Amino acid sequence: MTGRTQPLEVMIVGAGITGLALGLVLHQKGVRVKVIDRQPLPEFVAPAGFEQRIYAMSLASEGFLRRAGGWQDMDRTRIQPILGMKVQGDRDGRFSLTPHDGQTSPMGWIVEAGAMSSALHRYQKKVAPELLETGVTVSAVHEKERSLEVHLSQGQCWQTRLLVAADGLHSDLRERFGIPAYFSPYGHRAVVANYRISGEHGGVARQWFVPGEVIALLPLPGQRVSLVWSAQSDHAQALLAMSPAQRTQALQQQVGYELGLLEEISVPADFELRRMNVARWIAPRFALVGDAAHGVHPMAGQGLNLGLQDAACLADTLMARGPGPDCGDRSLLRRYERARREPVAVMQGLTGGLAHLFSASRSQWGWVRNWGMNRLEGCSWLKDELVRYANR
Ligand SMILES: Cc1cc2nc3c(=O)[nH]c(=O)nc-3n(C[C@H](O)[C@H](O)[C@H](O)COP(=O)(O)OP(=O)(O)OC[C@H]3O[C@@H](n4cnc5c(N)ncnc54)[C@H](O)[C@@H]3O)c2cc1C
Repeated sequence: MTGRTQPLEVMIVGAGITGLALGLVLHQKGVRVKVIDRQPLPEFVAPAGFEQRIYAMSLASEGFLRRAGGWQDMDRTRIQPILGMKVQGDRDGRFSLTPHDGQTSPMGWIVEAGAMSSALHRYQKKVAPELLETGVTVSAVHEKERSLEVHLSQGQCWQTRLLVAADGLHSDLRERFGIPAYFSPYGHRAVVANYRISGEHGGVARQWFVPGEVIALLPLPGQRVSLVWSAQSDHAQALLAMSPAQRTQALQQQVGYELGLLEEISVPADFELRRMNVARWIAPRFALVGDAAHGVHPMAGQGLNLGLQDAACLADTLMARGPGPDCGDRSLLRRYERARREPVAVMQGLTGGLAHLFSASRSQWGWVRNWGMNRLEGCSWLKDELVRYANR
């Protein structure tokens, strides 16, 4: 048994980008913290093209990852700045966003999921080799007077003031603490693949609302884009069953030739899309962060961004606690929950509402959604607010 004599202040379960970044930030602030994951973290091997799983990261997320330490080690040639955003409705609706200061500074970045996770892990091994333990999970948790006693699958036992679940959408730990999670399927699956383009993307992230579905082509370094096609489940299956040439043709029919000719350069993958809400974000000496706390539609590319904002908020709340309370203090956790509930609900409402509005069964609302987009397009202050909101 280890760790009995020296209680941890924070134990984080799940070393995805959210959990590991939170662990690194707390460690750098001198907090006694441990991160565990049931899987070893794989070393990123850069594929010849570009990894299929990518994230659109906000500037706020970049800021937090810089605090954590991994961002600076990323290969800059594999990061694409997002210089603008264009959204097209299924009729004449149009809407575009550029950085609010009118400059050509990026609105965010496109990064490869594996490269980001690997950069954090490399940095962690350099600055805090003891911080992370992989290949273990939680087997039991017992409440003690001023701590939790956490038993791990390899036999170790730790006392911790606060236990944080960063173990993803299907969090075991959330269930262990009896926090109900409500899943509602969007009826969509996301089909993702990379494409070479014969034209130029100009760093612009493009999105098309086609009847019942949403197609995003996100810019990658060079003449490449990443497809996220949120398709109705049966259509997603049909898309996956097509040959690359048929799929490309189906895509090109929807998005036209603004980017020139498309050529598929990766094997497509698909993900089920579900909204997930939790009844509570906290329990005594316990908090949820990242996908363990929320599931959102990927149309706005906000899932991980929200998770990193959770992590930043929890870290700042714990750091600002002053000399009295310990990290598991209920009033601190309540402050964290209050701060995060609303922005997450807003993002879930926005993306879920748009997905619903553009679903086939609501096609009679076609003129409303396209009119709404055009109104938004003409409203520069609201667009500036949206850019600022996305980067909070
Ligand atoms: C198609 C698609 C596109 C997306 N695009 C974007 C985007 O552009 N931008 C964006 O911000 N978000 C995007 N997202 C959302 C994003 O993928 C997730 O929000 C993000 O990966 C969640 O990170 P996390 O660290 O919270 O959880 P995860 O990445 O799921 O990490 C959880 C970790 O916990 C570990 N774990 C699980 N159970 C246990 C256990 N019992 N014990 C120990 N360890 C455990 C796992 O091994 C894993 O390492 C997208 C999602 C989809 C489906």
